[in-house]
Amino acid sequence: HVRNLERLKGKENITQSGQRIDICANVGTREDIENVLRSDAGGIGLFRSEFLYMEMGSKLPSEEQLFQVYKLAAESMGANRVVVRIADFGGDKMVESVDLGEQANPAIGLRGIRIMMEKEELFLPQFRAILRASALGNVSIMFPMITSMEEVAAAKALLEKAKKQLKDEKTAYNENIEIGVMIETPAAVMISGELAREVDFFSIGTNDLLQLTLGMDRENPKLDKYYNPYHPALMKMIRIVANNVHLEGKRISICGDLAADLSMTEFFVQIGIDELSVAPHQVLGLRKKIREIQ
Ligand code: PEP
Ligand code: MG
Repeated sequence: HVRNLERLKGKENITQSGQRIDICANVGTREDIENVLRSDAGGIGLFRSEFLYMEMGSKLPSEEQLFQVYKLAAESMGANRVVVRIADFGGDKMVESVDLGEQANPAIGLRGIRIMMEKEELFLPQFRAILRASALGNVSIMFPMITSMEEVAAAKALLEKAKKQLKDEKTAYNENIEIGVMIETPAAVMISGELAREVDFFSIGTNDLLQLTLGMDRENPKLDKYYNPYHPALMKMIRIVANNVHLEGKRISICGDLAADLSMTEFFVQIGIDELSVAPHQVLGLRKKIREIQ
């Protein structure tokens, strides 16, 4: 079986009728980057930066340490995309070095972009590290848990601040680095048309989007039998986002777990999703599925 899939390396992700869709991979650590290369993915569709913080225990990674990992990703992928998401601390991913205090509902608490709004100093080294890596490859930056235009404006302002610092220091970066937004809250779905005029690309985080749409904790095993990833509400949301994003001529990817669900692939191709980003070991199975679609 595995040997069969190996034969698909180097082949295109194309349906029988000639429709293409990109397959990228999700990573969280330095070690994962090697797996992406072996997987034959077309780039990194989601770099979950919070893992670089989780690995360090009670110490915060420095700008240089972050840069070294992003640099490895950028250089390893060559011309292929590397989408670095700023750290989405909180929710199911608590980081020892970032104290968020007691929260009764961490999944809908202080996390993601909300922490960036409060702790600029924590995020500036990260922005600088991502920008520095953007001089070395096809690197873009993405923001998690967006619910409003104000958050996007704040993220852009911090990016501009980091750019200005680097420019003053004569440090190289890509002035035109692309900016992306995660669609993983129902609010982001509803304002996706407006968002599409503000940023360059989008990625649907079906894990959080499903949890927030159903109002069900994705970590609670008591809800397993109700936690329906095929809920028509989620399907409608994905359609709405794809439409709104394409109306503005922007790219839409899916990077939540549903991206790897082979019973969903035909639907994603049908509605014109541009990219699916999955775990490295799922890349070739997904390619096989796409090549079988009429
Ligand atoms: C998601 O929510 O679907 C997603 C990709 O982000 P994470 O799983 O890291 O929350
Ligand atoms: Mg998420």
